[in-house]
Amino acid sequence: MNKPQDKTSAVINLYNTMSRSVEEFKPLKQNQVGMYTCGPTVYNYAHIGNLRTFIFEDVLKKMFLRAGYNVVHVMNITDVGHLTGDGDDGDDKMGKAAEKEKKSVWDIAEFYTKAFFADEEALNIQKATYVPRATENIPEIIALIERLGKNGLTYSANGNVYFSIDNFPSYGELARLDKQSLNAGQRIEIDRAKKNPHDFVLWFTKSKFENQAMLWDSPFGKGYPGWHIECSAMSMKYLGEQFDIHCGGVDAIPVHHTNEIAQSEGATGKKWVNYWMHGEFLLSEKGKMSKSSGEFLTLSLLKEKGYSPLSYRYFVLGCHYRKQLQFSYEALSGAETSLRKLKNAIAKINDETSLSFTPDAKKVSAENKAKYTSEFDRALYNDMNMPVCIATLQKVVKDKTMLPCDKIAFIKDVDFVLSLDLLQDDDVSKSASSSNNGQNGDIPSEIVELAEKRLLAKKNKDWSTSDAIRSEIQEKGYILIDTPTGYEIKRK
Ligand code: AMP
Ligand code: ZN
Repeated sequence: MNKPQDKTSAVINLYNTMSRSVEEFKPLKQNQVGMYTCGPTVYNYAHIGNLRTFIFEDVLKKMFLRAGYNVVHVMNITDVGHLTGDGDDGDDKMGKAAEKEKKSVWDIAEFYTKAFFADEEALNIQKATYVPRATENIPEIIALIERLGKNGLTYSANGNVYFSIDNFPSYGELARLDKQSLNAGQRIEIDRAKKNPHDFVLWFTKSKFENQAMLWDSPFGKGYPGWHIECSAMSMKYLGEQFDIHCGGVDAIPVHHTNEIAQSEGATGKKWVNYWMHGEFLLSEKGKMSKSSGEFLTLSLLKEKGYSPLSYRYFVLGCHYRKQLQFSYEALSGAETSLRKLKNAIAKINDETSLSFTPDAKKVSAENKAKYTSEFDRALYNDMNMPVCIATLQKVVKDKTMLPCDKIAFIKDVDFVLSLDLLQDDDVSKSASSSNNGQNGDIPSEIVELAEKRLLAKKNKDWSTSDAIRSEIQEKGYILIDTPTGYEIKRK
């Protein structure tokens, strides 16, 4: 699955946030892509919005592998330094979680890092080549801050080391910030020690959190790093001082990525990254899904409700990564139904592969396979237009002129990028788990009857009836959860 094909002739066009336009991708090193993606802050489970961004980055990486590139992918784990506000304001996320869960910050980091890896696996997200943790790269972080100090870009005040944006003239280019209007108090809490309100902490020594557990000795005093510096230090450690692509969610543009650029280019004096790519938000009913609002959905929760992780991946692939995506259970159910139908149709095609055909039929089929492959690639290499890629796959499945063996070869080929296990003959909701207790409590008998009818439909593999009944139950205000022994019903 990891093996790149032997071709790099594809023209790949990608939207670069820096230029606000679609550009042809030109690698720094022939056949090689170096990419860095900001990883999770491990103070809680990743929410499905975070996972949307990680799916987009997975598709990006697999697109390059498909095109024949070798990809070196680095994704950090933020296990220190991330405050609830992006501008050095608010509480320490890790510390707060440790206090709440009555665990050490180290245990919190370990627990949620493992949970994140499990989510990645369930979503068929390929692990990065390197997954460094901030806490394991403190010497690199300190060295980078010292380098910035030598370049006259830092100052110490109130015990902390700050980056001075006034000494870095191109500050804010990525976000197109107007430096004149960077006024104090607009979006960030005013820290009186800062010379410019948009200066940011590189190293905290005088922690505002008295019981800070993660502390390291440094030339600036015992303390811990600010959030942004880790990404500059770790990306350059593994990818060098200049590399091809840096990704994240759009929320990282105005502060986190802006500060990362200032730190990296401030240290090396060179252009750091050639292409900046950002995934749009997953929205909940109340707007951007976020952990800090406390209202967020996890992959485990979706599984508990009977949805398979790959139905979520399919749901995400149905929307271009640069468009906002509104989450709802109805929409997810729709995606699950559509994926199930697709997989059932593919399973049928797979059963037909042994039939024999005339040379003419073979020729037409091969031509069509080539046509659909180039249609798929055109969409993929055109800034990853996944809805079109999926539509092409649907066309192949329905095509009457293609031979089953060619269809299966096409499906196998494109599923490397889609990673939907299209050729695994299973019910898409099989991998979803739940805690069935067989009790439906005070659920109205009308709903229980519907659930029984759906169970029968499922047993008969009558998926359209089963899906229609599930939607009906949802419309009536209940959620039906599949369990190993039957179902469970909950109020919405
Ligand atoms: P965090 O764990 O908060 O550091 O975020 C991990 C990744 O998820 C980052 O690239 C964020 O930009 C991204 N992200 C955060 N919220 C959302 C959202 N609602 N939809 C999509 N991506 C998000
Ligand atoms: Zn980052």
